[in-house]
Amino acid sequence: MEKIRMTTPLVEMDGDEMTRILWKMIKDELLSPFVDLKTEYYDLGLEYRNETNDQVTFDSAEATKKYGVAVKCATITPNAARMTEYNLKEMWKSPNGTIRAILDGTVFRAPIIVKGVEPYVKNWTKPITIARHAYGDVYKGSEMKIPGAGKAELVYTNEAGEETRELIHNFKGAGIIQGMHNLNDSIESFARSCFNFALDTKQDLWFATKDTISKKYDHTFKDIFAEIFENEYKEKFDAAGIEYFYTLIDDAVARVMRSEGGYIWACKNYDGDVMSDMVATAFGSLSMMTSVLASPNGYYEYEAAHGTVQRHYYKHLKGEETSTNPIATIFAWSGALRKRGELDNIPELMAFADKLEKACIDTIENGEMTGDLYLISTLENKKKLNTEEFILAIRKTLEGLM
Ligand code: NAP
Ligand code: MG
Repeated sequence: MEKIRMTTPLVEMDGDEMTRILWKMIKDELLSPFVDLKTEYYDLGLEYRNETNDQVTFDSAEATKKYGVAVKCATITPNAARMTEYNLKEMWKSPNGTIRAILDGTVFRAPIIVKGVEPYVKNWTKPITIARHAYGDVYKGSEMKIPGAGKAELVYTNEAGEETRELIHNFKGAGIIQGMHNLNDSIESFARSCFNFALDTKQDLWFATKDTISKKYDHTFKDIFAEIFENEYKEKFDAAGIEYFYTLIDDAVARVMRSEGGYIWACKNYDGDVMSDMVATAFGSLSMMTSVLASPNGYYEYEAAHGTVQRHYYKHLKGEETSTNPIATIFAWSGALRKRGELDNIPELMAFADKLEKACIDTIENGEMTGDLYLISTLENKKKLNTEEFILAIRKTLEGLM
């Protein structure tokens, strides 16, 4: 069989620990035999980040701007323990944070649904994709404890030195206050990323805030989304047969619970933090959650939502058997290859991505799975495989589909 050719390289961001082991196995067993893989390789493993003073992370993000599509392995975000474990020169920042800041993107998380792993909400038959605005609000807030009686105000001083004031509260006793902000630019980028991603995946987009209570702050989010939608996206949405829908956050929560899924739910920063954990848990498993960073300029970075699965890696180092789920990492590759195929007009590459995903799902639905799914699957004839066995089982299914 002739291998599928690629024309433009994918930006390949290698990573750490167990996911780095999975990365190589996925390439060797599931990609290279079928695709003449063209990638520009960046090693974001912690050792090389440390060696290059994290320059490699910046370079990989710049390469993503150049080529448009990247696939990323999970990486360690250093903490105090990692400083000694890897003898680091500095506590390097989270690569995801660095890349997100350079691409100005929004992260979209979606579950992979398989028979046997049933969502806790029984009517959720299609994935719900959460888009979380990743800038500002309480995450960049300033807070103050008010010790006793006194007046608290918001004060804005413009460059000419003129002040605008707004009373927060006339305190009679002790209390607390909080000031937070957001930026129109950031909200606009968030909106465009969401509208683009909805068009890309042909799903409706929902957005919700509390604009009835927060008449300036949340209302600005609502207005910016509405304006960008009317001016730039309405016709495209009509042509694609999809809808943009705004409602209040409490109404959105009620509708989400009653829905069958199959849409994107855009959330403000805090709502996204809370709701993404709820939705991920309700769909059953962290190891079955994909993540895409989509920029307003149309750059994409695909990855798994989980981390480097450190506990399994230490077992692996001791020579013990592991049963680590590679599905989200495989879907990062299939997502990136499909997007590359779409941009470069290579239908065979897109078809391969579809088959690779189908091979993953079919293998699990035939009862072959890793330990994490074995624990929760309701299938009767289920079998727990180790890491290698499971990847080889997917390879066998894939060969049958090719
Ligand atoms: P984690 O890697 O997501 O793993 C937490 C636990 O979830 C695992 O111990 C395992 O449970 C289960 N799990 C996660 N993925 C799994 C998979 N594919 N297959 C089977 N089980 C899976 O989180 P962590 O251990 O807290 O973090 C490890 C490192 O990852 C940290 O250094 C952190 O900085 C980094 N991290 C990176 C990213 C990223 O690059 N996007 C995201 C999050 C965390 P059991 O042990 O019970 O089997
Ligand atoms: Mg959270």
